[in-house]
Amino acid sequence: MHHLPPLPEKEFRSYAPGYWSSKNVSASDWNSATWQLKNRITTLAQLEEHLALTEEERAGVLLSGNKLAMAITPHYFNLIDPEDPNCPIRRQVVPRIEESWEDPDEMSDPCGEDSHMPVPGLVHRYPDRVLFLVTDRCASYCRYCTRSRVVSGVGEQELHTEFEAAFRYLERHTEVRDVLLSGGDALLFSDAKLDAILTRLRSIKHIEFVRIGSRVPIFVPQRITPELCKMLQKHHPLWLSIHTNHPRELTTEVRDALALLANHGVPLGNQSVLLRGVNDNAEVMKSLVHKLLMCRVRPYYLYQCDLIQGSSHLRTSVADGIDIIEQLRGHTTGYAVPQFVIDAPGGGGKVPLNPDYVLVRDEQRVVIRNYEGKTFEYPEPALVRR
Ligand SMILES: *Cc1c(COP(=O)(O)O)cnc(C)c1O
Repeated sequence: MHHLPPLPEKEFRSYAPGYWSSKNVSASDWNSATWQLKNRITTLAQLEEHLALTEEERAGVLLSGNKLAMAITPHYFNLIDPEDPNCPIRRQVVPRIEESWEDPDEMSDPCGEDSHMPVPGLVHRYPDRVLFLVTDRCASYCRYCTRSRVVSGVGEQELHTEFEAAFRYLERHTEVRDVLLSGGDALLFSDAKLDAILTRLRSIKHIEFVRIGSRVPIFVPQRITPELCKMLQKHHPLWLSIHTNHPRELTTEVRDALALLANHGVPLGNQSVLLRGVNDNAEVMKSLVHKLLMCRVRPYYLYQCDLIQGSSHLRTSVADGIDIIEQLRGHTTGYAVPQFVIDAPGGGGKVPLNPDYVLVRDEQRVVIRNYEGKTFEYPEPALVRR
């Protein structure tokens, strides 16, 4: 039987072959992204081969087929602790019946993306940058996916990205200097297909900055090959934002994949979603951000969980997020502290939320407090005082 090593979560370790240890998978199969994707856990029977499900999970899996498909790569599945029904990895990828609960605050398009699409697949919300949804497929499906309406192929909508129309829109819109490839996960494309998209974007002179948002390095680190990195390197400056929520996700395989990207000059950021029972705790977050820095990944955003349908069991209060930031800022490396944001419901974009360090501010002075709660006063320059 597969037993998870005890804490601390701060260690980097491999969990392979884990649940697959009795199946004699060859190292070359295990280390192949194609094998990992072909052997994903997608059915109730496959799941029950490995885990004793709770009633909530079993019902959730049966319902997931018409909302957001279940898919879990063997690499990621091995991080699940079979003894712990509340395992933070399990909560992210195993459906639960709570996903079918109705909540009047929840929406199918919580960030109002569909109303900001000048071309199908291209979200243009901010003045100088666009979000380009290039695919509706991911390596595994996060149960709190903000795009579950279009992602995985079983939801209420389909993504019909019009690539040619999107490229022509970008050519005409000279104010766009930043393109973010997301979806879905662009790193599921073949090297050749992704190369073609990046080459086309790079042919547009006013596009200065290209980035990819991807959870592939976490779900299937085997996809990060030297060949992929050499191709990406041709398109610099190219940045990559990964998505990790829990320190256990940073395995030795993931660390090696991130090193390969960093060694090819790809600056790395991380986006986390604050999730109940996963990372709504300063100790877990601190381990995560410390491990990220060791992988040369800069924590970028911590998101308040979007009001996506079926997410009530995973959402925390906003105060929890602010508390976590407060327990990081000043207490640890500044680089380790992400910006906590709410993606405004309905489509206002990302809004930063911070602990209050300003106690008083008037024309004369600002009274501030530091991370220890000590107060200080900074006088405004005499010139600007009345
Ligand atoms: C998040 C997002 C971006 C990128 O925002 P940054 O704050 O620059 O990372 C761009 N467009 C849309 C629609 C987004 O949701």
